[in-house]
Amino acid sequence: MNNNLPSLLSMSREELCELMISIGEPKYRAEQLFVQLHRGLSPDEMTNIGKATREKLAAVASYHLPRPKRRLVSAIDGTVKYLFELADGNCVESVVMKYEHGNTICISSQVGCRMGCKFCASTIGGKVRDLDAGELLGQVIAAQKDSNERISNIVMMGIGEPLDNYDNVLKFLRLVGDEKGICIGQRHISLSTCGIVPKIYELAKENLQITLSISLHAADDTTRSAIMPVNNKWGVEELMRACKDYYSASGRRISFEYTLISGKNDSRKSALALAELLNRSLRTRSSTMPIHVNLIPVNEVEETGFVRADDSAIRTFAKTLESKGIRATVRRKLGADINASCGQLRRADGKEL
Ligand code: SAH
Repeated sequence: MNNNLPSLLSMSREELCELMISIGEPKYRAEQLFVQLHRGLSPDEMTNIGKATREKLAAVASYHLPRPKRRLVSAIDGTVKYLFELADGNCVESVVMKYEHGNTICISSQVGCRMGCKFCASTIGGKVRDLDAGELLGQVIAAQKDSNERISNIVMMGIGEPLDNYDNVLKFLRLVGDEKGICIGQRHISLSTCGIVPKIYELAKENLQITLSISLHAADDTTRSAIMPVNNKWGVEELMRACKDYYSASGRRISFEYTLISGKNDSRKSALALAELLNRSLRTRSSTMPIHVNLIPVNEVEETGFVRADDSAIRTFAKTLESKGIRATVRRKLGADINASCGQLRRADGKEL
């Protein structure tokens, strides 16, 4: 298939309909095609669609499902990490985690990332390109097909910055919710951002039900700018104003990610500053937003030199937040034996693991 043609997996049902009509096929064929594509079948595997039709289709559209190039399964908790190969040979990672309430997939939004966060493996080689909606969706379809299990929740916390690939991500959110397809509703989807403020305002207007997750990692501009270059453009106070706007527009609570790095942002003083910032910015008389902070002990990435905060510092940090009325949970580490945090497998591809 010619990869320069529009991608079948990126098309909505309406778009598939138009495409089928344009090659002289009836509308019901588009429905058949949509259902089967989203179940993980390639057009060639669709025996209920004749060869002549499939050939006409191949001349006007492309098809590629991310191919599991590597697949690591955790012996501890069954977490599965995929290295998916895309049509052009680029690779991204997805991780499937098994929880009591169902399977959650963490998907990538770009090949690489240009945000430059100092602790993150995904950004080391910069951004190669955005993923299109079909490649975002394809990770869910391919993982479901490979595991033969339903995935019920999605987190956009893999490689890349979703709000730096805004249009494709928005299209994906609508596609993945289609009742004839994967059918994962927005309440089961979280989108994590390092804080691209104008896009948070834009997202607030979309009327979505997703959970927004903000990678905060520090409560003051000096510390945050030192580890997250994006903060030089939009500082902490600006980011908090955007969060408040998002909450008032959508009514959806926001969760905050806070990576604990030894000696950088893990002191009790940092915890107090974080509680003060969140309470002051988000809990005013007119807004009683529930605030939840996810504490993530930093995953040590060889190239970055950052060291994980120790357990007692993590406990003190969580208790300090709780004492100020902020719910804090320490992220349970899944897939510890397979390097499950995103970015590391793609970098290691080709080297000995
Ligand atoms: N670009 C988006 C989503 C991808 S990163 C964002 O910044 O939110 C997903 C989460 O993992 C973010 O909170 C990010 O800051 C965090 N993260 C990245 N590298 C990490 C590391 N080495 N240890 C712990 N968390 C990390």
